[in-house]
Amino acid sequence: MKLVNLSDFGIRNINYYWERKERYNLTEVELAAVGLINGQAQVDESIIPKLKMANELLKPFGFELIVKDAYRSKELYELIRKKRYEIDGQFNTDKTFSQIKMSHSTGLAVDVSLIDLKTELEVDMWDKLDWPDGIFINYYKLRQDPESKKYQELQDLLIGIMLKVGFKLGPRKEFHHFESIDL
Ligand SMILES: [Zn+2]
Repeated sequence: MKLVNLSDFGIRNINYYWERKERYNLTEVELAAVGLINGQAQVDESIIPKLKMANELLKPFGFELIVKDAYRSKELYELIRKKRYEIDGQFNTDKTFSQIKMSHSTGLAVDVSLIDLKTELEVDMWDKLDWPDGIFINYYKLRQDPESKKYQELQDLLIGIMLKVGFKLGPRKEFHHFESIDL
């Protein structure tokens, strides 16, 4: 694994847990102890070309990727799990936070969303009120209301392009989590 900063390759990113320090009750000292020292998201360099290709394919639709979570050390996983048990409870945490495979610790997994290039804002691809079920790929498929249809179309677009450039969905089938096919 050779970790690189996404920003160095012009790929939009945030570091999810760095951004949400307060929400998860994490201090900078705790984060530094598990190797997280700034808001840069990092990935293994092997997936940079795939992410760039995804951006090229999204552009005609008026979108670009934003990577919202990427590499996490195994120690960071453990720290996050503890904090999320406190805040979100064990049930929702175990449903949405995989500690068995820890795929983000390989640098080959990303959580992504779309940026609307006209507004430069992140696009809503699910309704936060539907947490946690709304992040799984089939949630909006059976619903006919306009919002649900819009979410489904956006998720289908994102998934279609990510699969085309060499990613696969994770074992939990969250619409925003992708792993390199090499993983
Ligand atoms: Zn993920």
